[in-house]
Amino acid sequence: MRNSKNVFDLVVIGTGNAALCAAIAAKENGANVLMVEKGTKHKRGGNSFFTDGAIRFAYNDMTGIQKILTDLNKEEVQHIVMPIYTEDDYYADIMRVTKNKSEPELARQLVSNSFETIQWMKEQGVQFELNENQSFEKDGKLQFWGGLPIKTRRKGIGLIETLIARAEEMGVEIIYETRAVKLKKAEGKISGLIVIQNGAKKDYPCKNCCFGMWWI
Ligand SMILES: Cc1cc2nc3c(=O)[nH]c(=O)nc-3n(C[C@H](O)[C@H](O)[C@H](O)COP(=O)(O)OP(=O)(O)OC[C@H]3O[C@@H](n4cnc5c(N)ncnc54)[C@H](O)[C@@H]3O)c2cc1C
Repeated sequence: MRNSKNVFDLVVIGTGNAALCAAIAAKENGANVLMVEKGTKHKRGGNSFFTDGAIRFAYNDMTGIQKILTDLNKEEVQHIVMPIYTEDDYYADIMRVTKNKSEPELARQLVSNSFETIQWMKEQGVQFELNENQSFEKDGKLQFWGGLPIKTRRKGIGLIETLIARAEEMGVEIIYETRAVKLKKAEGKISGLIVIQNGAKKDYPCKNCCFGMWWI
């Protein structure tokens, strides 16, 4: 619900994984949140709907994996060989694939919060499972490689359906067929978002705006 002045604390653009996680986290912290999605309700979820669901995070070792996949039994765990993947490994991978062009502070922020973010997503209802695409059988054991041992259950469909349901359950307002086109500013601060809705410009007053998409 909006506050008495009809001003949202936060308007989130898009309904992909980034946008939904931002909206839910803000709502958890008491903000009035609006999400605007340029696509139809039927096409919500962006690229996140189509992902295979593999999510990279610093799990450290099998103990970390077991904190996420709490339904793995002892026999299954004994059958798995899981290479260690630390925050430093994750950071080094980001810097390697981006040829050191990533902003170090942001990359460090991403990796150092990656494990607790997956835990937080689990608390929101997202279900995870072993990503067997990143494993092979050797000596009777399932050997994982590449730092991507977990994926979301039912891939991007499961991810988006769960997060949308959670956002709606929490009272996040979502409007579709609404394209964000411009930020409004007053006294050096964000004061609103201009959108195109039904072919006409409309202004949503807000205190903050969060981009869950590339600005296009
Ligand atoms: C087939 C496929 C498989 C993939 N597999 C994996 C994988 O296994 N693991 C992995 O990590 N990554 C994978 N990816 C990449 C991953 O899907 C994306 O990196 C991720 O979904 C991006 O999420 P996002 O929330 O940032 O953006 P998106 O999910 O793309 O969401 C952006 C949203 O913003 C909306 N939007 C854009 N502009 C506006 C505007 N002006 N106004 C309002 N709304 C707007 C879009 O309609 C969309 O809903 C895969 C991608 C594809 C296509």
